[in-house]
Amino acid sequence: MAHAEQVKKMTELVAKFVGYTGKVLPDDVIAKLEELRREEDDPMAKVIYDTMFRNQQLAKDLDRPSCQDTGVIQFWVKCGTKFPLIDELEALLKEAVVKATFDTPLRHNSVETFDEYNTGKNVGKGTPTIWFDPVPKSDSCELYTYMAGGGCTLPGHAMVLMPGEGYEGVAKFVLERMTSYGLNACPPLLVGVGVATSVETAALLSKKALLRPIGSHNPNERAAKMEKLLEDAINAIGLGPQGMGGKASVLGVHIENSARHPSTIGVAVNVGCWSHRRGHIIFDKDLNYTVLSHKGVSL
Ligand code: SF4
Repeated sequence: MAHAEQVKKMTELVAKFVGYTGKVLPDDVIAKLEELRREEDDPMAKVIYDTMFRNQQLAKDLDRPSCQDTGVIQFWVKCGTKFPLIDELEALLKEAVVKATFDTPLRHNSVETFDEYNTGKNVGKGTPTIWFDPVPKSDSCELYTYMAGGGCTLPGHAMVLMPGEGYEGVAKFVLERMTSYGLNACPPLLVGVGVATSVETAALLSKKALLRPIGSHNPNERAAKMEKLLEDAINAIGLGPQGMGGKASVLGVHIENSARHPSTIGVAVNVGCWSHRRGHIIFDKDLNYTVLSHKGVSL
């Protein structure tokens, strides 16, 4: 296939995949919502979970986004340095978002800051958001896609704690956000926590934590224990589905961390809502693809 045709093909595939993830939630999110529905006793909460499943079915049947807020599109790209389209990737992803905006369709969510106008295409200065991680010697390209909705983005927060505040300080920071803003973010929530040196390193890790499959754990056993403790603590608030009260508040708590400066604890929290529209797809050098987030999908 000629190079230009390859660019066109990948643009179309990414556009279709982004559109698809706006309509169909990933398998792990559906499985977790089903589990929470089974374990719920509160009659109102049960009705709300059932409405969420009906909403998902209607989105599929009517071929429409599962929530009106299709967010700002974000990509985390782990791109092999030998992937044939590496040079075109950034422009291609932007073009795919424009295409998905009109084909899906997606709500127009890119407003130029300071100039205050909506571009109408979901692209603008720095949008879609793209984070690149190069993968040496590889010729494949792994993409995580995410729709960052307004409500679920609002609880996001980052700060640098004094080292003496310790892990108790991290827990307090997360719980303060959950008790003040969690209600508005369409629970049950996926809570991503980043722990690192500074605000930007912690913030990026907290977003990457949201892209991990639900049920996965931090490989460090102390961090994994903290994920469980935070999950229990946030569930104890009893936000329930859509914040109307119930047994669970969260789909899960994921912590991602790096080593850090001894004098600081950078911490950040990022939140995904029940309509957690995350996609995960891998392309090989010939653009054969494997979708990991949604079983049995062909684009
Ligand atoms: S928080 Fe999620 S479900 Fe609620 S309006 Fe925003 S994108 Fe939709």
